[in-house]
Amino acid sequence: MIIENQAVDVKGQDPICAYKVEILCPSCNRDVTETELAALKCDDCGADLTDPKQNLAVAVTSVPVFGVTF
Ligand SMILES: [Zn+2]
Repeated sequence: MIIENQAVDVKGQDPICAYKVEILCPSCNRDVTETELAALKCDDCGADLTDPKQNLAVAVTSVPVFGVTF
């Protein structure tokens, strides 16, 4: 399962960049579904998903770059 978070620009605070979090089974490394995550059990290998493996991917391409001089 991939959870996507959009970039947030909060006034007076540092903007939060858009990022994706990939939730993987810690045992078989498979991309788990929302249902499996809710049940805290991998349907494939039966592993406990209370502490799933998370891959954080920052979507740098969607962030505009200002003030770059070549
Ligand atoms: Zn698994």
